[in-house]
This record gives sequence, C-alpha cells and structure tokens, in this order.
Amino acid sequence: AQTKPLAGKTAFVTGGAQGIGEAICRKLALLGAAVVVNDLRRTDAAEKLLDSLAASGVKAGMVCFDVSNEEAVEAGIAEAIKEYGPIDILVNNAGISLDSLLIRTKADDWHKTLNVNLTGSFYCARACAKSMIKARCGRIINISSVIGAMGNAGQVSYSASKAGLMGLTKTLARELGSRGITVNAVAPGFIKTQMTAALSGEHAEKLVEQIPLNCLGEAEDVAEAVAFLASPAARYITGQVLGVNGGMYM
Ligand code: NAD
Repeated sequence: AQTKPLAGKTAFVTGGAQGIGEAICRKLALLGAAVVVNDLRRTDAAEKLLDSLAASGVKAGMVCFDVSNEEAVEAGIAEAIKEYGPIDILVNNAGISLDSLLIRTKADDWHKTLNVNLTGSFYCARACAKSMIKARCGRIINISSVIGAMGNAGQVSYSASKAGLMGLTKTLARELGSRGITVNAVAPGFIKTQMTAALSGEHAEKLVEQIPLNCLGEAEDVAEAVAFLASPAARYITGQVLGVNGGMYM
C-alpha cells in the first residue's frame, strides 16, 4: 500500500472540536498525520472526535486553551510538543464572529474578535515557529474568510480580523520561506456550520443567488483545501490565499 502523504507528521488544529476545525482534524488524520486538537473545552463532541481519530489508527490528543491568552498558548503548545513531538502543521482555525454595524459595535466586541481571530493566530504561529525553524520545515495554514477580502455590512470586526490574517500570512511566508516553512491562508465562503446556522431561510436564499455554484459549502470542502496545502504536493506554494467559496468572490 502507498504510504499516506502526512505519515510521520504532527498537526495542531485550533478550534478543532467542531465545524470546519473538526473536518480538518479528520481529514489530516485520514492522510496519516498525528493530530492534536485544541479548543476551549473538552466537549462531548471533542471526546467523540478524539475516539474516532484514535480508531483510525493515528496518534490523537487534545490540549485545551484559549488562543487569545498569550501565556496559555505558550504553555499549551509547549505541552503539545512535549507530548506529541514538534508540530509540523499548524492550522489556525479558531474563530468567532460578533456581528454588528459600525455605529453599534462595542469596543469590547471589536477587541474580543481581533484577539481570538488575529492575535490568537499570531500567538500560535510564534509558538510553533521556533521548532519549525529548527526542523527547517513546516506548514502554517490560517483560516481567513471571503469576508476578509470582500467586506460585509454588519461584520465590522470580523472582516478586519480576517483581512488581518491575510497580511499576517503573507509576511510570515516571506519571513519563513528560507527556512522551508510555507504559510498560506484558506478563505472559505459560506459554509454550513454552527457559525452560519443562524442564517434564516430568505437570507440564505439571497446568499445562494450570489454563489455561482449555487449552494453553501460543507466543512469538508475547506478541509480538502487545507489538506492539500499541508501535503508535500503543495511544497512550492506559499503566501497564497485559497478561496473555497463556490465562486462567490473571484
Ligand atoms: P464554529 O463556531 O463551528 O467553530 C469554531 C471553534 O473554535 C469552536 O469549537 C470554538 O469553541 C472554537 N473557539 C472559539 N474561540 C476559541 C478560542 N479563543 N480558543 C480556542 N478555540 C476557540 O465555527 P466554524 O464555522 O467551524 O469556523 C471555523 C473557522 O472558519 C473560523 O475561523 C471561522 O471564522 C472560519 N470561517 C467560517 C465560515 C463559515 O461559513 N462557517 C466562513 C469563513 C470562515
């Protein structure tokens, strides 16, 4: 049998307990990677995911922390490295959206969103980069959003955080390229998860009208793109933003 493309690699996926993060964990494990799941809490869904990852024959574990807490990130990633070995693939997926129009946006919600989505990704990338630089290889994949490129009325802090991730991606790609590390972003469009569950019937229909492929995406569609960027096949791709959006933004 052919060896799996990510055999021998360790992946760390933030916000991996549900939704897109969960699909990414499952896909990377399927390709042979050991998977360390991060999230805020060890939920029932997280337990179920860990069981099925272990059942698929890969090493799997969970390290709970809030990505917006600098000390917790440093300690959590150090713990993960100690337990599971150096991290080869970091997926910065943890994200929140506290949506509001500009004049209604509270400073506290702005800071919370930026702290989790953007600063959290910076903390995790910095914590993983040291061992990646030493190993002279690594993959960092940031989950941005189509909204970071297009903007969206009512998503003031979210769009800014996701646009920020695109800048972070490109700078890290330039800084770390000579060390054999690639850094890319995946920018999903509208994907069916808990985050978009609130989209009501009429609103969802209007949205779909703007999508050439005529439907919302699935978490697995995003996981496939992440898996490709994590794989040896993507060795010459860095600093890119890969849209997974059914064509809604080109
Ligand atoms: P989700 O809400 O279903 O899952 C997000 C996960 O992140 C949850 O398990 C949550 O507990 C975790 N999380 C939140 N804050 C955290 C923190 N501070 N530290 C650690 N973990 C934390 O959302 P999803 O739809 O699966 O989204 C995953 C990522 O994809 C997010 O970054 C989101 O912005 C992005 N995204 C989603 C869509 C979509 O349509 N669903 C579109 C574009 C981008």
